[in-house]
Amino acid sequence: MADQDRFCFLVEWYEEQAARIRQFLFTYYVSTKGIEMYCIKTRKTYLKTSLKDSPIELTDLYIGSTLNILGRQIVIKDYGDVYTRNRLSSKKEKTLGVVKPDAVNKAGQILDNIYRNGFQISQMKMCRLDRNEAFEFYQEHKGKPFLDALLNYVTSGPVIALELVGENAIQRWRDAIGPTDPTVARSEAPNSIRSQYGTDKTMNACHGSDSPSSSARELEFFFPSSGPTRRNTAVFQDSTCCIIKPHAVKSGVAGKVISGITDAGFDVTAIEMFHMQKANAEEFYEVYKGVVQEYNGMVAELTSGPCIALEVRAQDAAKTFREMAGPADPEIARHLRPRTLRALFGTDKVRNAVHCTDLPEDGLLEVEYFFKILGR
Ligand code: ADP
Ligand code: MG
Repeated sequence: MADQDRFCFLVEWYEEQAARIRQFLFTYYVSTKGIEMYCIKTRKTYLKTSLKDSPIELTDLYIGSTLNILGRQIVIKDYGDVYTRNRLSSKKEKTLGVVKPDAVNKAGQILDNIYRNGFQISQMKMCRLDRNEAFEFYQEHKGKPFLDALLNYVTSGPVIALELVGENAIQRWRDAIGPTDPTVARSEAPNSIRSQYGTDKTMNACHGSDSPSSSARELEFFFPSSGPTRRNTAVFQDSTCCIIKPHAVKSGVAGKVISGITDAGFDVTAIEMFHMQKANAEEFYEVYKGVVQEYNGMVAELTSGPCIALEVRAQDAAKTFREMAGPADPEIARHLRPRTLRALFGTDKVRNAVHCTDLPEDGLLEVEYFFKILGR
């Protein structure tokens, strides 16, 4: 790739104070990672910077991607010129992956497999389908002899819907999950996900879209581009909140963090990926303002990319989960509590892998903040 390469996109920003959508031409300079935003309406340069603090990578640039530019959530809507379209459009593809009910207790391992296979996850949500919804999703199988068993199965518990992004993602994800029947998968594709986690022809651990048209329809089903979002599965009882921070998500360890939590005996009863606005991060961390020295850094970290919110359930959830997360400073955690999440996956006091609730009485409030207020 030539050093002077630049790519151009049409982007939108929902300006909350004014309740309006603003459109920009967005230019990305590959060598400096600098960006320029030109407001289409006012015909003025709106912003020009080289983002030293939270650099945008080339892999972040695809249609539908949400970028965090100095606390603003900017959504890429289209290519901004023919050159960019020609250079990038063949590369990135999106597909829907679903962790089906029989494999939700293995979600950590499956997510880890997904990251190791080089996919990016740009949306994630644990949902529960009723029979009508399941039938709508599987409408192509109307009249098939296995439909009834299939609908019973996919409504038997929660599923985790994933928007997977990558080169040739549709086919690569089909290859990663393997043949529909896990028995066949075990002989023909022993490393595939269905081979490792599937049970039988019906209970086969994962779903993958089979074509560009079905991936578009199926992504819209779980992650509608407008209108009401799907219900999450939070139960708001005996639970506390864990946030897998953006640096940990970016480095691909989210699956390992979730495995660590479930292996320790906690129930994960809701999961959703969020792209936090600065105002929301400030509100969420309000109690730390003026109390904790790292407050500004914490807000910057939480808005630096997608985070994953979990509702974690156990007896005495807030207290026991705090113990599992470990001391706030990963350096100290590595000395005193080397098996805790922060010791294993944290970098420093701000990038300490997970947020956990500090005060037991706040556990539920934090779960509500993510799964009732933000997840509306
Ligand atoms: P895939 O999920 O690999 O695209 P299909 O679209 O053919 O497979 O079927 C959808 C789902 O229905 C399968 O993943 C599986 O859960 C179930 N299923 C498919 N074929 C059968 C079968 N012959 N018997 C029982 N269940 C089946
Ligand atoms: Mg299919």
